[in-house]
Amino acid sequence: VTLDQVSKVYERGGDHICGLDQVSLDITTGTFCAFVGPSGCGKSTLLNLIAGLDVPTSGEIWIEGQSTARFTANDWTRARRQSIGIVFQAFHLVPGLTVEENVAFPLLLRGEQGSTVRHRVVEVLALVGLLHRSRHRPSELSGGEQQRAAIARAIVHRPKIILADEPTGNLDSHHGTEIIALLRLLVQQFKPTVLLVTHSVAAAEAADYIWTMKDGRLVSRTVNQTALAGA
Ligand code: ADP
Ligand code: MG
Repeated sequence: VTLDQVSKVYERGGDHICGLDQVSLDITTGTFCAFVGPSGCGKSTLLNLIAGLDVPTSGEIWIEGQSTARFTANDWTRARRQSIGIVFQAFHLVPGLTVEENVAFPLLLRGEQGSTVRHRVVEVLALVGLLHRSRHRPSELSGGEQQRAAIARAIVHRPKIILADEPTGNLDSHHGTEIIALLRLLVQQFKPTVLLVTHSVAAAEAADYIWTMKDGRLVSRTVNQTALAGA
């Protein structure tokens, strides 16, 4: 993931609000990066732009070596179905579907066949420790389990890039720690690039690199030797 002088200006009424201010960033494939900073500093804006959920006002974003400058909505949809997994603070599971149906959803959208889907869903639910909950609906799960189901759904298509926006924000500290440990495990096993937005210092410390943001800018980067040595 590479950003070159990326800015995002929101217009609200006649006001212009700078969400992101000329951010340049080059993230090495397979690293786990955390972004921390006060509310309103641009963390979600950054992730939304990388996910193609919003477009930059200026600057350019590259995903897997490809410029997204001329991406259409269809190109972004394809990129998300193939290369990107997204985890939000609110789990956004479909309430009427079971856990396994929720997790199967992205594969069905890709047109994968039934046997592949079943195999992958079982595999990923085992990985996040939710196999025994496959047939349950989201409302029957704890918050931590719902977020693990959401992570399973985000990674079932084996994305190279995982974007997580405050994934522990709705969880108590015990379940929050579990979710961060799961992200760390994914980095160790599959080497995706993980971008984690968090206000939790403890969560950020699981990352290889910790970026601090302020007023739409990146202000510093800390290399987390402990996490890198563990990986
Ligand atoms: P964070 O995730 O770090 O809390 P955000 O990226 O959500 O911060 O927001 C950065 C700035 O952009 C804030 O000042 C916020 O109010 C503003 N902002 C975010 N989204 C919008 C929007 N859709 N319309 C107008 N302003 C927005
Ligand atoms: Mg946010």
